[in-house]
Amino acid sequence: SMRLWGRATAARRRMLCLWLLLLGFALVTLALSDLFNRDKSQSHQNPGPPRRPLQRFSSPMDLEVIVDSRDPALELGVDLAPLKSLQEDQLLFVPSTQGTKSPPQKKGSYKVLLPGANKDITAPAPPTHGEMGKAVQLHLEGSEKEAELAAVLKYGFNEVVSERISQHRRLPETRHPGCLGEQYSESLPSASVVICFHDEAWSTLLRTVHSVLDTAPKQHLQEVLLVDDLSQHGHLKTVLSEYVSHLDRVRLIRSTKRLGVGGCRTLGAARAAGEVLVFMDSHCECQKGWLEPLLERVAQDRTKVVSPIMDVIDWQTFQYNATQWPVRGVFDWRLDFHWELNLPLQDKDPDSAVQPLRTPALGGGVVAIDRHFFQSVGAYDPGMLLWGAEQIELSIRVWSCGGSMEVVPCSRVAHLDHHHLPYVFPDQELLQRNKIRIADTWMDAYRKIFYRRDTLSESPNITERLRLKRSLGCRNFHWYLTAVYPQLYIPQDRPALSGELYNVGAGSCADYPRGQGPQGGPMNIAPCSGTGSQVTMTTDSSQMISFTVAGERVVLSPCPTHGPTTSSGLQWKFIKARQRAEPVLFYTTI
Ligand code: UDP
Ligand code: MN
Repeated sequence: SMRLWGRATAARRRMLCLWLLLLGFALVTLALSDLFNRDKSQSHQNPGPPRRPLQRFSSPMDLEVIVDSRDPALELGVDLAPLKSLQEDQLLFVPSTQGTKSPPQKKGSYKVLLPGANKDITAPAPPTHGEMGKAVQLHLEGSEKEAELAAVLKYGFNEVVSERISQHRRLPETRHPGCLGEQYSESLPSASVVICFHDEAWSTLLRTVHSVLDTAPKQHLQEVLLVDDLSQHGHLKTVLSEYVSHLDRVRLIRSTKRLGVGGCRTLGAARAAGEVLVFMDSHCECQKGWLEPLLERVAQDRTKVVSPIMDVIDWQTFQYNATQWPVRGVFDWRLDFHWELNLPLQDKDPDSAVQPLRTPALGGGVVAIDRHFFQSVGAYDPGMLLWGAEQIELSIRVWSCGGSMEVVPCSRVAHLDHHHLPYVFPDQELLQRNKIRIADTWMDAYRKIFYRRDTLSESPNITERLRLKRSLGCRNFHWYLTAVYPQLYIPQDRPALSGELYNVGAGSCADYPRGQGPQGGPMNIAPCSGTGSQVTMTTDSSQMISFTVAGERVVLSPCPTHGPTTSSGLQWKFIKARQRAEPVLFYTTI
C-alpha cells in the first residue's frame, strides 16, 4: 500500500507540475500581451515611422480588413472591432469565405486568369442583361466571342483583351512638344494617389497601380492608397493583399460597408498622408510626366483643383486614344457631365497649348486636390450615394466656395471608358436623388430649370450641407453661371411651349435618350413616362417645331405653320398647349 501511496503522490506531483507549467505559460502570455499593448500606445504618441505598422481587423463577414493604426476609430460608418496581431510590415491575411469558394487561379507571380473557363459570372449582371448582351455581341462579332462577351457583361469592358496586355505597357507620347522641356521644382508637394475600387478586374486594377509606380517620381509619391469598396470578387481578396504587400509604397485599406465613389474617396482621403490627394479611377494608365504638372499647379495655389487631359482607353480593344486639346469639363441642365471637345481657341497665344485651362467642372477619372483644402471645402457630399454626379457637386462647390478648377495639358492620363456600368443599383432613383441634392443645395432658383427636365420625388436632407455652405461663405449659383460658366444656355424662365410631345396615333411620346451630350442627338419614340423626363422645350410658341416619326427615329424639323407637316411618316400636329408655370403639355395628333 506504501508503494501504491507513493505512486499516487508521484502522480499528484506530476499533475501539480503540469498545472504550474500551465499557470506559468498563462502568466508569460499575459505579460507579453501587456508589453505588446504598451508598444502600441507608445507608437501612437510618437508620430510613426514612414512605413506604418499594419493592423488587421476582423469584420462579421470575415472580409480581410487592413487598416493602418494611426487612427483606430474608423469613421464613415465603418465599424470594426480590433482583433489581434500587430507587426511591422507583416503580411496579414485570412482566407475569406468568399475567397475560398472560388479560389483565384494563379499563374506565375500572381497573375489571375479570369472569365473564359471561369463560370463565376453571376455577380454583377447588369440590369438589362439580355439587351446588353445583344448590344455587346454586335461589337464582338468574329472574335473569341463567348469569353469576351462574358467578360464585357461582367466588367463593362473586354477583360479578355486587357488580360493579354502588359501591366507595364508604355503609352505613345502624345504630349505637346512644348511640355517635354518643362522643368519642375524639386520641392513639389508629395502626393497620395487614392484609388477606390469596387469589383474591378485584376488586369485593369494592377495596370493602374503599376502605371502610377512606373511614372510618378519617387520623391513626389508618398503612396498609392488602394481603397476596396466592399468588393466581392475572389481575386480582390487575399491574392490582392499578398500582391500589394510586395509593392513598395502601395497600401491597401478595405471598407466593410459599400461607400460608393464619394464616400470611398473621403475614406481614402482621411487615411492619406500625402500633401496632395490624387483621386484616380481603378482603370487608368498614366502618361510619362503626368504628376509633376498637377502638383506644380496645386503648389502654386492650394485652392486649385486640377485634372490631366483625360485620354481614352477603348473598352473593346484597349487601344489608347489621345484627347485633343483644348478640352474642358461641363455639365448640362440634366446635371450630366461631359468633356467639351473642339473648343474654339480663345486666344492665339502660342503658349495656349501648354497653359492650363480654367474649367467649370472636372470629371471623376483623375482629380488632384490639396489634402487640407479638400477637407476644409467639405470632402465629398456624404449624402450622395453609390455612383453619379459627385464630380459635379464637387465642381460647383469648389468654385462657389473659394477654389478654382483647371485642366492641365502637359499632364495626360488615360481612362477606360466602360461600355456600361457594371454595378447593380439598389434602386433606379439613386442617381436622380444625387442630382436633386445638387440642385437643392447649390442651384438656388435655377434648380427649377433642372426640375423641368426631371421631377422631384422627395426632398433630400441637406441641412448639413447648407450649414457648410453658410460657414464657408460660398457664392450663389448666379455668380457661378456668370463668372465660371457663362456659356451655359439659360432657358427662358417665362412659361413657354414646353412639355411632352404625345402622338395619338403611335400612343408614344417623343423621347430624348440620356447621355447624348449638350450638342444633342437623334430622338426616338418611347412610352410616355409622365414624369417630365421627356420634356421638349421651345422658348416661343411662334417657333413651333415638328417631329416626324421615321421608323424608330423621331426627326426634328422646323415647322413653318402650326398645321400638319407634309413630311413622310407619322405626323405630329400641335393642337393645344396649356400654359402653366411648370411643364406645359403639348397634345398632338396625326
Ligand atoms: N467605385 C467604388 N464604389 C462604387 C462604385 C464605383 O469605389 O460603389 C469606384 C470604381 O471602381 C472606379 C471609381 O469608383 O474606380 C469610379 O467609378 P466608375 O469608373 O464606374 O465611374 P465612371 O468612370 O464610369 O464614371
Ligand atoms: Mn471610371
